[in-house]
Amino acid sequence: MKRLFIVFISLFLVLYCPISFEAKSEIVIEKIDFNNKDFIKGMDISSLISLENSGVKYYNQDGAEEDLLRILALNGVNYIRVRVWNNPFDKDGNGYGGGNCDINTAVKIAERAKKYNLKMLIDFHYSDFWADPAKQKAPKAWYNLSTDEKVEKVKEFTEASLRAVKDTGVQIGMVQIGNETTSGIAGVYDKSGMAKIFNAGSSAVRKLDSEIKVAIHFTNPEKTEAIKALADFLNDYNVDYDVFATSYYPYWHGSLENLTDVLNYAATTYSKEVIVAETSYANTLKDTDSHPNTVSQYANNTGENLLWNFTLQGQANEVRAVMNAVNKVENKKGLGVFYWEGAWISVGDITNLSAQEYASRQNENKKLWEQFGSGWASSYSSEYDPDDAGKYFGGSAVDNQAFFTANGKALSSLKVFDLVTYGNMDYLLGDAENDGTVDILDVSFIQRHLAYKTDINKKAADTDGDNAVTIKDATAIQKYLAKIKTEYPIGGSFSI
Ligand code: CA
Repeated sequence: MKRLFIVFISLFLVLYCPISFEAKSEIVIEKIDFNNKDFIKGMDISSLISLENSGVKYYNQDGAEEDLLRILALNGVNYIRVRVWNNPFDKDGNGYGGGNCDINTAVKIAERAKKYNLKMLIDFHYSDFWADPAKQKAPKAWYNLSTDEKVEKVKEFTEASLRAVKDTGVQIGMVQIGNETTSGIAGVYDKSGMAKIFNAGSSAVRKLDSEIKVAIHFTNPEKTEAIKALADFLNDYNVDYDVFATSYYPYWHGSLENLTDVLNYAATTYSKEVIVAETSYANTLKDTDSHPNTVSQYANNTGENLLWNFTLQGQANEVRAVMNAVNKVENKKGLGVFYWEGAWISVGDITNLSAQEYASRQNENKKLWEQFGSGWASSYSSEYDPDDAGKYFGGSAVDNQAFFTANGKALSSLKVFDLVTYGNMDYLLGDAENDGTVDILDVSFIQRHLAYKTDINKKAADTDGDNAVTIKDATAIQKYLAKIKTEYPIGGSFSI
């Protein structure tokens, strides 16, 4: 009898002890004391639809296939950025690549962002393909238009595009009028003309929804005086905007101290809010898709501002450091940081293959990049950008800066987006009150939070994983307490 009892007890313990769903985080990150409660922990995933069309799938850190948007939300990402090109296709409908990002891909991503309560930044390039400091070419359809005619087109295009995104029900939090418009925008290069285009886009945003923030995006913050002069220019030409944005890639863009200084200038001189609209960092120098990477053993891998190792911890450290640099901006004007294309992985892993297998996989990848636009440029882009994309088209140059393996599994470094908020933390799912048990007090704790906006540990309270604490979470805990089965691992212990 006694032996039988022990067997029972053992069985009970095996079956009912809280299961640890995953090992302690491999990444250690000190949390940031954010000046803004809703600090933007953003991710650009513009190429997602073309990657999925090419067969790419995403898996969470436990290996379960999930919607990328859900994986991001449950790792602490709270904002999604997508670029919009006017018409990145040739007359036969072949895509230029780089995700073939137009308003249709933005809408598809918006539908999924809404589901996980992720806000969106829409990044208009006002071009048919990549716009950056070296390229600000007008869309094909606008080639022969005057600046004043382009102003009307920018208004129409911006308003119609944003309306399509807004119709999904997603919250558009911010809109960029142009991308890295340091030298021009939409084929307009004089200051007066640029200001007209900025104000055209801005007025379309204001007309649609006065709550949406308007951002103007520059780059090369390492040219300190030049980028400050751009803030002066926007002021001198009465450009109507809210957020002064810059890119910050540490292998090109100077020190973090200089970054904070540049952002402080816009924040204190012109009382603008500021963001880093793009950053990223390599977690390895290896390539996984046979297209050379921006950061590799041959390029951009040394320099005084590369303060972090090319490891998962190093990648996470860079994200924290850039967020910290933005959070330091005076008068709480630092709104947040977007990581650029953190899911742009290989469409076919070329590592650990024989020479013959490598050649065949490389060919398959090239076909996918051409067919679905999942590389940075396809050969079809040569009609629009003959000197660069038309010559050097190919795959992903940032697969080693993603937060996913070549086969789509989330890496531990992705947890940095939660870690900057919570630090390394263990919790029981459902233990909203954070006292080590899931009980009826957690239900009332969530109800109190909903009624009075009291502080709550969102990781523990968001039992259904929709990236929000709602009455559904309280109900799910009540069901769990009544021993009614739910699909959520309430009572399970987790670590970040
Ligand atoms: Ca590559």
